[in-house]
Amino acid sequence: MKSRMWKCLAASLAVASTLPLAAHAVGYTQTKYPIVLVHGLFGFDNIGPVDYFYGIPADLRAGGANVYVTQVSAANSTEVRGEQLYWEVKRTLAASGAQKVNLIGHSHGSPTSRYVAAKWPGMVASVTSVDGVNKGSVIADVLVNVAPSSVIAVIGNGLQSLISFLSGGKGLPANAVAAANSLSTAGTLKFNASYPQGVPTSACGEGAYVVNNVAYYSWSGAKGVSNALDVTDPAIGLLSLAFFGAKNDGLVSSCSSRLGRVIRDDYAMNHLDAVNQTVGIVNLFETNPKTIFRTHANRLQAAGL
Ligand code: CA
Repeated sequence: MKSRMWKCLAASLAVASTLPLAAHAVGYTQTKYPIVLVHGLFGFDNIGPVDYFYGIPADLRAGGANVYVTQVSAANSTEVRGEQLYWEVKRTLAASGAQKVNLIGHSHGSPTSRYVAAKWPGMVASVTSVDGVNKGSVIADVLVNVAPSSVIAVIGNGLQSLISFLSGGKGLPANAVAAANSLSTAGTLKFNASYPQGVPTSACGEGAYVVNNVAYYSWSGAKGVSNALDVTDPAIGLLSLAFFGAKNDGLVSSCSSRLGRVIRDDYAMNHLDAVNQTVGIVNLFETNPKTIFRTHANRLQAAGL
């Protein structure tokens, strides 16, 4: 009797393990328009098997999303990166046959995406900022004000060349000084004056949810050290102190990250956790970043995007 009960229980568990979780169900992430991922400063599409958005494209595709990963200059001004992204979007529209795309930008990828949506709203269904630099970064301010531009140029442009080589050598132009200026508080204020779409008008509020028929969303983390096993955590932990107590993810304050409809600005994750780095080492006590992306794809689907 007892052994039959155990057999029944084992069989039930075996069946349950083959059932797809709701969040992984077919069609859960299937948006009307393709999802286009846009990397941040010193970013790349992939280096060998390592995605910048680590494991996120495959995870979204598993639920039915059509995902494109773009490559723009790792270090350059928002405007230069935005012009490059425009061509990447044009290629995506041609390849997919879609009328519009859903842009999701991490860090500097957010203003880069906003630039395209502001100038060519007809080809953008939504812009989502993930730990985006929408009102500058204290870290960029320190760089611009303290480091001689020659030092920024040598280190930054060298890094971009290395990234370009490792990620397939697309030979995109590098200008680390322009990148630092774009990401500074003064640089973003100037950028926002020309491209205000979705940017909160108050210091730390929400922005317009829809402008020119483009929907705007954002989320962000607010934790420096999140997993002692990640080799990047000590550096991020140190950087997070530069914000003098303001909520931040190590590189961007929560208030700066806010754009359009704010989903959350205080996930217990840092700037790299947001894109599931380093190689999936994230806070075990917070929602997994892949889940956040998946949930958002479903949110876009529900909004008819
Ligand atoms: Ca991490």
